[in-house]
Amino acid sequence: MSLWDDALDTVKKTARQVGNAAGDMLESSKKHLKAADIRSSIKERYVTIGKLCYDEILNGVSHSTEISAVAEEITALNEKLAAVNEEIRSAKNVILCPACGAQVAKGSSFCPACGQRFEGGAE
Ligand SMILES: [Zn+2]
Repeated sequence: MSLWDDALDTVKKTARQVGNAAGDMLESSKKHLKAADIRSSIKERYVTIGKLCYDEILNGVSHSTEISAVAEEITALNEKLAAVNEEIRSAKNVILCPACGAQVAKGSSFCPACGQRFEGGAE
């Protein structure tokens, strides 16, 4: 084998190895994406279970003390969120339409989303 053939052989081997490595990496990436996708689906179901438990607690169904404690935290967080959202609306000079929940500029005579009338302007 000439030096040239040797070099060519080495280049071919390297190309094959790189090709295989790239293929392996692609396969590995696909598997990682698949795993992440499944993890995400599991997380969604955990959230669904949590929401179902929370709704049950609000409807008087009793759960373990651990679950009830988390439900109380959710209620407190919802109240905090409502207060912060109210601050945001107040700074933007908007209110929530009591009929449809759309944001309406303060002083508006009607809701642009649902047409609800506001006597003397939305406050
Ligand atoms: Zn409305």
